[in-house]
Amino acid sequence: MYDIAQARELGFTSHWESLEFLNRQGFVANAPARLCRSIEDIEEYISTADRLRKELDFDIDGVVLKVDSLPLRRELGVTTKAPRWAIAYKFAQEQAVTRLQSVVWQVGRMQITPVAVLEPVELGGTTVSRASLHNIDQIREKDIRVGDLVVVEKAGFIIPYVVESRRDERTGAETEIEPPETCPACGGPTRVCREREDGVPGAGESTVVHCTNKTCQGMLARRVTYFVTMMEIENVGPQLVERLVSAGLVAEPVDLFRLRREDLLSVERMGEKLADKILYNIEKARTRPLSKVIAALGIPNVGAVSAEDLAHRFSTLTAFRAATADQLLTVSGIGEKVAQCITEFLAAPANIAWIDRLAAWLIEAPVGEAPSPSAPTLAGKTFVITGEAGVPRSELETLVKRHGGRVSGSVSAKTSYLVIGSLEGPGYTSGKKTKAESLGIPIIDEFGLKSMAESGNDPGGQHG
Ligand SMILES: [Zn+2]
Repeated sequence: MYDIAQARELGFTSHWESLEFLNRQGFVANAPARLCRSIEDIEEYISTADRLRKELDFDIDGVVLKVDSLPLRRELGVTTKAPRWAIAYKFAQEQAVTRLQSVVWQVGRMQITPVAVLEPVELGGTTVSRASLHNIDQIREKDIRVGDLVVVEKAGFIIPYVVESRRDERTGAETEIEPPETCPACGGPTRVCREREDGVPGAGESTVVHCTNKTCQGMLARRVTYFVTMMEIENVGPQLVERLVSAGLVAEPVDLFRLRREDLLSVERMGEKLADKILYNIEKARTRPLSKVIAALGIPNVGAVSAEDLAHRFSTLTAFRAATADQLLTVSGIGEKVAQCITEFLAAPANIAWIDRLAAWLIEAPVGEAPSPSAPTLAGKTFVITGEAGVPRSELETLVKRHGGRVSGSVSAKTSYLVIGSLEGPGYTSGKKTKAESLGIPIIDEFGLKSMAESGNDPGGQHG
């Protein structure tokens, strides 16, 4: 916990008091916290916390030391960046030594990057067999060779990476690492060039490897997968994307919206039920909020969090596309470099065309239309939900409760409706269905439930 905003008004004079107060109120506020009275106390606490952190239910990469006295905190005040009364202590990162067996070149959305294949080693509670090598510059700078003993580090939540090689332990059999001449995904020729890092203006340049094939399937698949992830389209994983791309069914993200049922069914190991579910999920993605759409565009250095801020500021895709650097800079969390990334991205003809194609598929919510409060359309009704629907069952349960209805786990005379997910065919059988039929309880699917929740009218389920 960071702090209680109104602690002073509650009469506390110390942070510890406020933590104890929260605990009494039933919050879990200070499970691993401790009140330290001396620098020795602090040192002891840090080493204990470092030792015990593996037993915690959550990951920590350090502890925060805070001044306890609230009057003293007020006296110390804050700088523009952080309070003067708190400081973070980071634990030493975890390292392990292992052998670099080989290097694979991984095709990404923008470039081809080196990945170290390691002799498996325990690191930070997991077995690590792959680690990042960043780029060819770092490999040369650190003089890392295949066959080397290398130090691998894992800090916090980041991907493990190779810190250095043990050059003094070389046998002479080690080999230098060279960028690939052909793309590992499509076999097309690669190009090695100097480029701004991550596309960030002003950042240092680094040597990057590109596939020169504009229709490289590896790169396309990565772009589509990125889009799918950011648009939160369920049931479309990287492997399916690869199959769709290699079958020529998808050549860019918007092709997903064009997929027909028979296209999906032509893909290996695709059943009808899954195909319908995927089509449903893709269709649903057309109404994603602006924040998801902005994140899915693939603008360098604009992830989900910045996209959220941008969507808040610009409200519509049209407004966002017309954003000037000055406007972008008024968005919290958007600095000059990211603003420049955005304006450069939005000005590139290829991107303009791609956003046009995407916009044609999107269904934007009218601006300023706040979601209307849920009417108690389902009050007094009890629903039993079963079978597979196009949406998670929890979503349907929330819908029922939000509209004043009840959800029950079993069918009885008190059940108003049995909801069977639409992905179940007419031949679906279950104990709940049989019982509902014998009791004459109407059976509906999730669409019937939704229309009932919206209108309050009986959707006319089939009576058993
Ligand atoms: Zn390629």
